[in-house]
Amino acid sequence: MVSRASRPIVLMLMAAAVTVGLSAPLTSNNSAGAAGDDFEVANWTDPDGKDHRIRWNPCQTKVTYAVNTRLAGGTTAARNAAVADVKAAFKRVSNRTGIPFAFAGRTSEIPNNAEDESWSNRQKAAEIVVAWVDQSRAKYRTNLMTDNGNGYASGVGGWMMRAWTDSEGRWRAAIGRGFVVINSGHNSTYTAGFGSGVTRGALLLHEIGHAVGLDHVGTTSEIMYPTMLERSFSKYKDGDRNGLSRVGKPLGCIAGASDTWPQI
Ligand SMILES: [Zn+2]
Repeated sequence: MVSRASRPIVLMLMAAAVTVGLSAPLTSNNSAGAAGDDFEVANWTDPDGKDHRIRWNPCQTKVTYAVNTRLAGGTTAARNAAVADVKAAFKRVSNRTGIPFAFAGRTSEIPNNAEDESWSNRQKAAEIVVAWVDQSRAKYRTNLMTDNGNGYASGVGGWMMRAWTDSEGRWRAAIGRGFVVINSGHNSTYTAGFGSGVTRGALLLHEIGHAVGLDHVGTTSEIMYPTMLERSFSKYKDGDRNGLSRVGKPLGCIAGASDTWPQI
C-alpha cells in the first residue's frame, strides 16, 4: 500500500481558465454550439492502451474543500457571502456527481503548481482549495493563472491526477487534488450569489466543473462555455449535467485511490 503510494508513475496537471466577456449579452437564440447537451470530459490512455476517465474516486468518504476568502470582499459579511456561494456551488456539484464534498473550513493557502510530485505535501488545507488571488502582489499570486496577453482571466480551475498499477499490474488513475483560483481584480464584475447577470455563482460552478474533470464546450448557453456571459441563469445546463454524471458515482469506485492519494 505504502509502496504504491510512494511510486505514482504518471502525473498530470490540468488547468483551464475562464475569461469574462461582457460585450455581447447572451440571448436565447445566441447559441454557438449545435447541441444543447454538449459536454467535454477527459480520458487518459494508459501504456496498455486502455482508456480511463479522468475523475475523482467517488467512493471516498468525503472530498474536502477549503476556502481562502482573504481577497473575496472588503467586509466580513462580503467574505462570508463568498463562502456561502462556494458551499452552494459544491452542493450542486455533489448532487450531480454523487461525490461527497465536505467543507473543511477557511484557509490562507493559495494553490500553486510545482513540477514535481509534492502537490499533496504542499496543499494541506483540503483536497480542493478555492482561493481569491491578486496577481499584482507576490503574497497573493498563483502560478496557475497566467497573463494571456489580454490580462489575467477571472478564474482558473483544475486538478492533479496520478496513475499507478495495482497488484495485478492493471493501471488505475484518479484525481486526488484540485484547485480553484479566482482573480480578485475582477470581483466588481461579478454579482454575488446565483441568478441573472454575470454572477460569482456561475464563475464558481464553471471552475469547480474543471476541478472535477469537465472541459470547455462550444455551446454558449452552458456553464462550461469558456467565456462568462451575461445570462438569465446561473446553473448547470443539460450538457453540463451530462458531463457531471460522467465523472461521478455512476462510473463506480476507483480501487486503491486512497493509497496513492492521502486523504485530508
Ligand atoms: Zn474554463
